Amino acid sequence: MAYLYVLLGLLVLFLGVVIIRTLNFKVKENAKAYDEEITFDTNKAVENLRTLVRFKTVSYRDGSLEDNAEFEGLLNTLPKLYPNVYKTCTQTLMDDRAVLILWKGKNVGPATVLMAHYDVVPVNENLWDKPPFEAILENGVIWGRGTLDTKVTVNGILSAAESLIESGFTPENDIYFAFSGGEEINGKGAVNIVDYFEKNNINLALVVDEGGAVVENVFPGVNKPCGLIGIAEKGLMDVLYTSKSAGGHASAPKPNSPIINLSKTILKVESKPFKMHLTKPVLEMFDTLGRHSSFVYKMIFANLWCFSPVLNMLCKKQGGELNALMRTTTAFTQAKGSAASNVIPPEATFISNMRLNPADTMDSALQYLKKTVNDDRVEITKIHGMNPSRISETNCEAYDKVASSVVSTWKGSIAAPYLMMQCSDSRHYGRISDKVYRFSAMDLTSEERATIHGNNERIRVETLLKAVEFYIRLIKQC
Ligand SMILES: [Zn+2]
Repeated sequence: MAYLYVLLGLLVLFLGVVIIRTLNFKVKENAKAYDEEITFDTNKAVENLRTLVRFKTVSYRDGSLEDNAEFEGLLNTLPKLYPNVYKTCTQTLMDDRAVLILWKGKNVGPATVLMAHYDVVPVNENLWDKPPFEAILENGVIWGRGTLDTKVTVNGILSAAESLIESGFTPENDIYFAFSGGEEINGKGAVNIVDYFEKNNINLALVVDEGGAVVENVFPGVNKPCGLIGIAEKGLMDVLYTSKSAGGHASAPKPNSPIINLSKTILKVESKPFKMHLTKPVLEMFDTLGRHSSFVYKMIFANLWCFSPVLNMLCKKQGGELNALMRTTTAFTQAKGSAASNVIPPEATFISNMRLNPADTMDSALQYLKKTVNDDRVEITKIHGMNPSRISETNCEAYDKVASSVVSTWKGSIAAPYLMMQCSDSRHYGRISDKVYRFSAMDLTSEERATIHGNNERIRVETLLKAVEFYIRLIKQC
């Protein structure tokens, strides 16, 4: 009997702790929102973006497919579109279509870098409802490849500077605009710029590149718009699985043919997902957005000390974005067998595309795979990849500047750190800065997001104007 009372007492204690922690998990003071009204020449900002979109700056891994005149045309047009910027700032062109523009500040304190890329991915023109390079403006929407990714921010940054210079503004410290013309093919432009900063001992206070956006209905139980600021990027690795045999005719098969071995391998990999890690970007995201969530989710996020196994189980089962935030993922994407249907393959291969959690590296992930598979008939090797990025600070002025520009521009939104799944040029800055933030200055619906790298990419005029407003607010703090 006494035993039962003890058990009951413990249960009450447990529930009490969980509920008290949930009730205390209150909304934290969000980043500071400023009411100051921002004005600039909106027609010019719209027309300038349209002009940028008309240049077919399409990057291809096979350079012979690229039209260099389009890239040069765009760069030669910038001084006409943003004359104040080009009168006041100095531009340096570097290899691999890198453009670095310096806007001198009043002081010599650490500088700010605003990044964007002016190359775009190819289009499948037949599948578009409107031509992709004419920048047609209809019903408040501009159609075109690059409107979102990322000519909007090239224009946002330059239009903000153009307007501020016209009003007589000089930034407190130096600001660099760092544009790359080969981001979509992993070009070396951004690397060259980082090399330049490193060689010249230029200290950076803040770096902002593409990344999260203002989005709705992405976090469980939160229906307010969320401005997601990427403070780290997952790594990436393609892995090759090879199994060999003596080959032979398919009419008299022996056990353990290469495809059987590989199939067993992927089942093992699937049944043993990578360990869950609640890394800094994810914990901080939960700690910010979780407080705005519904009661049940709040209870989970306020009590990860006891509920993280539940969260782990849910994520393993459902997969998807929440799961990808917390662990290294493996997606099997390619397979190759023999050349004919009646021949046992002498060699078969599978390929998996992996996204590495900040707690893993390419080496540790490869080791885990080998240990999990543990079959010497299957060889596992890395094809190529990159480690996760450095994780940026959030408890600092630099993060606050970005967050406050977000909540001032998109009123009623919540700014929150997050972990980016994709790779961006900004990862190269990890070498010289821990103040690198990934935020694409736009509010996007999920339908709009799907047009990035897809068909019918287009932007609402109000979205592109908000981008300019965001950069004006940010630059004023730099
Ligand atoms: Zn892109």
